[in-house]
Amino acid sequence: MRDGLLDIFQESYRELRPRAPIPELQIGFFAFANINHTIRLREGKLIVRLSDLLEGAPDPVLRAIAHILLAKMYRKQIEREHSTRYRRYISSHDVTRKAHLLRQIRGRKRIGAAQGEIYDLNQIFDKLNTRYFYGLLARPQMTWSRDHARRSLGHYDPAHNAIVLSRIFDHPSVPAYAVEYIVYHEMLHLKHPVRLRGSRRCVHSAEFQAEEKLFPELANAKAFLKSL
Ligand SMILES: [Zn+2]
Repeated sequence: MRDGLLDIFQESYRELRPRAPIPELQIGFFAFANINHTIRLREGKLIVRLSDLLEGAPDPVLRAIAHILLAKMYRKQIEREHSTRYRRYISSHDVTRKAHLLRQIRGRKRIGAAQGEIYDLNQIFDKLNTRYFYGLLARPQMTWSRDHARRSLGHYDPAHNAIVLSRIFDHPSVPAYAVEYIVYHEMLHLKHPVRLRGSRRCVHSAEFQAEEKLFPELANAKAFLKSL
């Protein structure tokens, strides 16, 4: 689960129901066909399923959806501040997404495939997810960039929920550990979302950096990338 998500839901619950004990909460992200979230109460346990489109959303937006879902659940009035914030985020998001889909249809910007000539990014993601994240990260769209630019090795784009790697690394001369390291780094961005808006900011908190050091071939990977 994303860091702080449980806290956000518990705080929202506390605001809505100051005296009721906080039930056990189970919160996860799911790849719904569209932007959709569900909340239900089962045997005293609150089960929340959020669209994975919110996975990269800033905390205030998550706080807004927590408030909205809990207010609905307990038939409380939804505060306008929250509904506005949520709606604004989704609509801007939606516009981007629709524009993106349209581009795909028109073929101007085809989204790259996860399967490159040498490396399959989906396979790499799944392997790293199992090994280092207990399989808990929802897999975003994994793509190789269309061009061979080296502007960035890779980046996580929360607006499209996509991890993009520069195609130059899909090459037999590039060792698997280097590709895996870049994917691992972007997965840490998934796990530690940047608090500010903007899709390409690359902010590495102390927590992020500590976790990056857990990658066994970090030194080799860094040395290889430096040698390019
Ligand atoms: Zn980074």
